Amino acid sequence: MWDAVVVGGGLAGWIAGIRAAQRGKKVLLVTEGVGTLFYFSGIFDYGDVERLRHLPKHPYTLFNSQAIVQGKHFVQEICPEYVVNDRPQSAFTVLGTVRQGDLMPRSMVLPDRQEQGEFVLLVPEGLKDFFPETVVANMAREFPGWQVNVKRMQVDALAEWTRLGKSVSSIDYANIWRSEEGQRALTNEIEEIKRQSQGAGRSQGKIVVVLPSLVREYFDSSRTKPYKSEFSLPVLEMSSFVPSPHGRYFAEYLKHRFTDLGGELMIGARALSLNGESTSESQAKACQELKVHSMGKTLRLKGKKFILATGGLLGGGIKVGMARKSIHEGVFDLPLFVPKEWSESQFFAPQPFAQIGVETDEFMRPLDPTRGQVVWDNVHVVGRMLAHWDPWTQRCGGGVSVTSGYAAAELV
Ligand SMILES: Cc1cc2nc3c(=O)[nH]c(=O)nc-3n(C[C@H](O)[C@H](O)[C@H](O)COP(=O)(O)OP(=O)(O)OC[C@H]3O[C@@H](n4cnc5c(N)ncnc54)[C@H](O)[C@@H]3O)c2cc1C
Repeated sequence: MWDAVVVGGGLAGWIAGIRAAQRGKKVLLVTEGVGTLFYFSGIFDYGDVERLRHLPKHPYTLFNSQAIVQGKHFVQEICPEYVVNDRPQSAFTVLGTVRQGDLMPRSMVLPDRQEQGEFVLLVPEGLKDFFPETVVANMAREFPGWQVNVKRMQVDALAEWTRLGKSVSSIDYANIWRSEEGQRALTNEIEEIKRQSQGAGRSQGKIVVVLPSLVREYFDSSRTKPYKSEFSLPVLEMSSFVPSPHGRYFAEYLKHRFTDLGGELMIGARALSLNGESTSESQAKACQELKVHSMGKTLRLKGKKFILATGGLLGGGIKVGMARKSIHEGVFDLPLFVPKEWSESQFFAPQPFAQIGVETDEFMRPLDPTRGQVVWDNVHVVGRMLAHWDPWTQRCGGGVSVTSGYAAAELV
């Protein structure tokens, strides 16, 4: 029997699984897919925590400020390149605009605007959906005291691709930068930038090379190579766009952290339903086993605690049918909070359907909203599956997922 069975391998599930395994618990993580991590920009958004904690039923109301800070420090502990700061920090988006975030790798944090300097935007040939002219214009507007120059580069390994007109994604480039050839190409290119700017007498201020992809090795899941940081100039990474190399490597990295700690993994497995019982009408039920479909077989997994981290509408945890009433939570068949009106006609307005999810008590145990009673005593709901929040307009997706995942692991 497992101390905890975590269902779902998105951000919330991995955080819960890693923390529980780190606490010496016997943990199994069952997941069908990779979740929304592949869209993750590399930056954790927490939103305006104090304001959100005052919104009725927002997931942050379940936690005290200390629990929220603990989750942030946990991210930093498992990924030391992430910087925890009292105030939000700023990074470049791939459009060259500035975006704030609450936890980001130090290689994304923008330099001080008051300093004088020069950005050299290194533009890898053929990078899909990247528009250097727009980026340069935006960077110059954001940093009026800085010069912004462009250097294009071609990597031999991709010359044939670009000759054939095949676009290259930022994940392709992130792979290249991880190879010896890619590292060499980048090192040479940065050396040349340095020589050129010194030759042109432009080097009075700071020179910062800006790259629209993941360059660093801080998500090296095998951890065989040391973290490579030594280029002859500082290199600034922009936040990722989809498909996101940060998200992809972070997911891979979390998986390794989990298994290194002794966590067991079932990938490509779909949780179907559970068995459990209660001793009386008024008591919450205790879940004893989870039915899982994996590799053509149906398995029954026994656990003391179950952590539901199956995401919301996007993660696959909530199923919606054509008929409006056919909305349900897909594994435990938990009662859902569903607003009367699902959508708002103004596209950019907060959309009510974002609030759909499971209501819980302060231990993240699912509640029956009509009776206000705990439904399952040993089930904790985390991440996007929680009701009453909106990652898009409140910009707190990473924050809620990390905080709830970490807090659930503490209850195992
Ligand atoms: C496009 C996009 C970009 C985002 N960018 C950012 C960002 O840059 N910064 C930020 O802080 N937040 C961002 N977020 C928000 C944040 O990533 C999400 O809030 C968070 O990832 C939700 O994580 P989760 O683990 O709850 O769910 P998910 O990531 O949806 O994971 C759910 C997991 O459950 C699995 N699953 C579902 N049903 C079953 C089942 N029956 N059996 C087994 N497994 C199952 C899925 O396969 C998946 O692995 C973004 C969200 C989106 C959609």
